[in-house]
Amino acid sequence: MTPTILEINIIPSQSPPHDVTATGHFEFGYNGQHGPDHWAKDFHTCFGKHQSPINIEEHDVENVSLPLLQFRGLDLPRQFFLKNNGHTALIHSSKNSEPAYMTGGPLNGSYIFEQLHFHWGENDREGSEDLINNHSFAMELHAVFYKDEYGSVDNAYLYSDGLAVLAFFFETDVNNQENLMFGPVVEAVPKIETVENEIQLSDTLRLEHLLNPAAPPHDRMQNYFTYNGSLTTPPCSEIVTWIDFKDPVYLSHAQVAAFRNIKSSEGTKLTHNFRPVQPLSDRRVLHNMPSHELNRNLADQAASSGQLLQIRHPLVAQPPAVTLIMRLHNDATP
Ligand SMILES: [Zn+2]
Repeated sequence: MTPTILEINIIPSQSPPHDVTATGHFEFGYNGQHGPDHWAKDFHTCFGKHQSPINIEEHDVENVSLPLLQFRGLDLPRQFFLKNNGHTALIHSSKNSEPAYMTGGPLNGSYIFEQLHFHWGENDREGSEDLINNHSFAMELHAVFYKDEYGSVDNAYLYSDGLAVLAFFFETDVNNQENLMFGPVVEAVPKIETVENEIQLSDTLRLEHLLNPAAPPHDRMQNYFTYNGSLTTPPCSEIVTWIDFKDPVYLSHAQVAAFRNIKSSEGTKLTHNFRPVQPLSDRRVLHNMPSHELNRNLADQAASSGQLLQIRHPLVAQPPAVTLIMRLHNDATP
């Protein structure tokens, strides 16, 4: 049974929840002189070479089979808060709740859940930050984790492997079906139209309902792109291991549209809050596939190209050999 929103309580703003993409301390927005083209004037890292978001070209990725991406604590019922911080709608759990952990995949060590938030656009044809084959999705959810050994999200900012962010792409459903898992969140969005409003969702929710909403199959959570990048808002720190799940999640048009009504810190409706894509530069993007799919895919490529492709494992810890890999993939693609 899906929980619903009951009473909504406006709670006084205490110390603000950590928001890696939008701390509220910075003057930035998505329009005009506060827009993304101007961020680097105040935040020089936004000019960096390893920025996010990016366009992921599927024919240029390297197919790999990494260790299993694993989670612990997603199934615990949690008390959540939803906040309008002027740049996004952000969800965090109460500070005294049990941590949720992520390990494996491209990650070294254990990462702890911090918060999740959304990016959207003016219409259903845009809104995601990363693109796949230049395709923009209607919305993107970011679930932010910080590395356990750094002790806090603030301290994790200081390290190049400080954060890991799960990205889920949202499409609007052709039959306009509502996604019941997101019902409690979407129903609460009108209550945070004003900047700095924060409400407590009166029913407890489980993270697994928000982070794995289309499951099963289990394989879905192992089918992702991963690359090293940055925060997508100032200060654009290059500290994020991105994990973008390939299979989109579906919401109704109205569920996505609800987010466009909240107010921005500039006082107008926050109709869009995605940063344009940045150059890939010398980075490579890995596509993790469940191992049986990887084997089938490599066999297909070898058959069509007549070339022998070398499988290396695990690939993340090894030097890139980008040129060779790119040439092989370009050769394998008509
Ligand atoms: Zn984000």
